[in-house]
Amino acid sequence: MSGGTPVGPSVQACIGLGANLGDPAQTLRQALAALDTLPGSRLLAQSSLYRTAPVEASGPDYVNAVAVLETGLGAEQLLRQLQRLEQAAGRERPYRNAPRTLDLDLLLYGDRVQDDPVLTLPHPRMHLRAFVLVPLAEVRPDLVLPSHGALHVLIHGLQGQPIQKIAP
Ligand code: AMP
Repeated sequence: MSGGTPVGPSVQACIGLGANLGDPAQTLRQALAALDTLPGSRLLAQSSLYRTAPVEASGPDYVNAVAVLETGLGAEQLLRQLQRLEQAAGRERPYRNAPRTLDLDLLLYGDRVQDDPVLTLPHPRMHLRAFVLVPLAEVRPDLVLPSHGALHVLIHGLQGQPIQKIAP
């Protein structure tokens, strides 16, 4: 249901989810369910849940996953909805890369490429992160990232980042 939010033609968007405070697996399951209720949107696919060590950050291990959303929301509209869900999960930003109850990144929006600080697409650091690429490869195995190449090649170069599947 659109609930007053204007929606356009459908695009497939990939969203990276992460959490490392509270009950991260439960938070991610709730966030996946919430994505399916966004205006003009439905959840097409979701990866397994993975446990990962923090990258460039401190605190407990993270739980990560990737979702594929079919959405009529524009990219900036979708980003605002993701930020709303982060806030609803109680996220605070006391400092950069602080532990978080829920982090939602817009990884890909169709094949859009843009370099804007408010919204960079594809997500500017996704190619460096096993916690993004490994779950993404489950739902988009043949994906080739603009400028960076095939997922499976990128993943091979990130063997030093421990990642473990914890739930289907
Ligand atoms: P973070 O603290 O990691 O959630 O970063 C959020 C900030 O990154 C916000 O100011 C967003 O506007 C900006 N940003 C730029 N590109 C993206 C993207 N593809 N996905 C999510 N946030 C983005």
